[in-house]
Amino acid sequence: MNERLYDNGHIRQFEATVIECKETEKGFLILLDKTAFFPAGGGQAADEGTLNGEKVYDVFEKNGNIYHLTKVSFETGTSVLGEIDWDIRFVRMQNHTGEHLVCGVAHSLYGCENTGFHMGTFGITADLSILLDSQQVREIERLANKAVFENVPVKVFYPDEKQLKAIDYRSKLDLTENVRLVEIEGYDLCACCAPHVLNTGEIGMIKILEHSSNRGGTRMLIKCGYDAYEDYCQKAQSVAAVSASLCARQEEIAQAVEALKAEKAKLEFEIESIKRQSLDKYISRLKPTDGNACVFADDADGDGLREIVNAGKTLCNGIFGAFAADGNGYRYCIGSNTVDLRAFAKDFNSALNGRGGGRPEMIQGSVLSSKEDIIGFLQAQEQ
Ligand SMILES: [Zn+2]
Repeated sequence: MNERLYDNGHIRQFEATVIECKETEKGFLILLDKTAFFPAGGGQAADEGTLNGEKVYDVFEKNGNIYHLTKVSFETGTSVLGEIDWDIRFVRMQNHTGEHLVCGVAHSLYGCENTGFHMGTFGITADLSILLDSQQVREIERLANKAVFENVPVKVFYPDEKQLKAIDYRSKLDLTENVRLVEIEGYDLCACCAPHVLNTGEIGMIKILEHSSNRGGTRMLIKCGYDAYEDYCQKAQSVAAVSASLCARQEEIAQAVEALKAEKAKLEFEIESIKRQSLDKYISRLKPTDGNACVFADDADGDGLREIVNAGKTLCNGIFGAFAADGNGYRYCIGSNTVDLRAFAKDFNSALNGRGGGRPEMIQGSVLSSKEDIIGFLQAQEQ
């Protein structure tokens, strides 16, 4: 087993000796006597970085050894300079250590066990065994941030089997050998293999962005440090834009949006009642007709035209059409209780530059023709 330097999460550059260099289909697998590269594990992705300036494409653990995948070979016995991509590593350590604090506080406050953990570009998701309400989640967040402000040391140690039995720590696995414990004094003690920050102050702000019920427990979406800062900047920008648009103070935009929604609902109700009145007016004016008949109802929508036609076709013994002006032409709905409209639709569309169709008793579509041409066509059909 090669020596792991990432117990100190701040080692970002190291010198090591090449123990083995094996060519594979993907490239060269480099084994060093020691390394600060973290292989993927515990929900955290593998480190990125270089060996002698050559990119490391993957880092993984096999049979207790950590291998580095490169595209170039390194001679066995030579010394190499390893460099971790610090920007990526540090943000991951902020998020990861922040998750320890959140889960540690949830464990001590409410007895939650950590049942799942995933780090992605969207933040961290952490699953807890107990369903928590918003107030409990806020209390966890408050205490986790308090631990950040107290700048508590984050310690890594390896107790032996006997010592381990006497220690009460959080763990997903029932391991007894080479257990690596990570302690944030007063807040958390957890078995974990990943690199962490050295003091909680480095985590920066911890924000639980969302929480939801998940398999009887709670799923949280968390962002820490730079990620929380970026999230804050993006949301502050959105709030400022909404605030300016609504002419409302930033802290009052939620109420302003609610007021806007209420106003919209009121207007929608008024529009609906005006449309209803208008439709009722068209329908009340319909009279029994011998032959074809039509109505021009420019303010009617598709449903309105259908309703007029359903009423109108019972009052005429031919074809009844309802039309609403639309751009350079008309939308139409045509119905009949006596004529099969499928053949009529072809003639109608072809004569009036239209498109549309439907069932034998009702067709719908649009025409690019004048009102006079439409009336003329319907009258000509009666002869
Ligand atoms: Zn950890």
